[in-house]
This record gives sequence, structure tokens and C-alpha cells, in this order.
Amino acid sequence: MKRKLIFLLLTVAVVLSLSYGVYAVSENRTAELAFRDIKITLNGEEFTPKDANGKTVEPFIIDGTTYLPVRGVAEALGLLVEWEGSTFTVKLSVPEDAKPVFITATGKRYHYDDHCNGGTYWEVPLSSALGMGLTPCDKCVLKVGSD
Ligand SMILES: [Zn+2]
Repeated sequence: MKRKLIFLLLTVAVVLSLSYGVYAVSENRTAELAFRDIKITLNGEEFTPKDANGKTVEPFIIDGTTYLPVRGVAEALGLLVEWEGSTFTVKLSVPEDAKPVFITATGKRYHYDDHCNGGTYWEVPLSSALGMGLTPCDKCVLKVGSD
């Protein structure tokens, strides 16, 4: 009886370690994808995300989370996208020549207009503003048709 219990405990331990190992590395899962003709807009303008070959990629929902194709969305936002297949890493970066933006000492937003709300503004690269966690200004950056 004691021998059976030890064998059972060892079996449970091996199964747990194997399943943990599989979970930590990589796995295939089965999911139900809900396609609902999801639309994406940027500054109020609808756009259709494409893959690296220019083929349309349709967004979908899994368990209440909406999944968008990262390349199509990131490129629409002006970001550079790289796929590193050896590590399964999506690398996003702000291009060196991205338009500079303006920030204030205490503001939570970055601006295209250095007189947006009055006060003192400093010009910084967009990557710096994003790195500080600032979000685009509704008045001068997200304004439809602005540049
Ligand atoms: Zn602004």
C-alpha cells in the first residue's frame, strides 16, 4: 500500500513537472474565434489592416478580448515592425525620422502644436514622449486630418 502511494505521488510529480515545462515553453491551444466584421479607425478614419504581403487580415475576438494584427495596426501608427522568428518576438520601434513632438513639464500628453494650451513647451523626439508614458493630445495630435 505504501509503495503504491509513493508510486502515485511520483507519477503526479512527473506529470506536473511535464505540464509545467510544456506550458513554460510553447504550446498549441484550440480557441473559438468570433469574427464580427470588426472595424478599426485611426483618428476617425477607418482602415483595413494588411499583413507583410499586403493581404487583408481580419480582427477577431477570443473570450471577450479583441485581437488585432499587430503589423497592420503598428504600421498605421507610424511604427516600424520586425518579426524575429528565432525568438518569436515582435519588435516595434519608433522610426528615427518620426515627427518631433512638444511636451510640458507636468502634462500627461504630447502635442504637435507648441502653443496648444499655452505655457512652456519643449521639443522632444516622439520616442522620448512615448517612453515617458505620455499620450497624444486630443486637440492637436488626434484631430482628424491634422499633420
Ligand atoms: Zn495639443
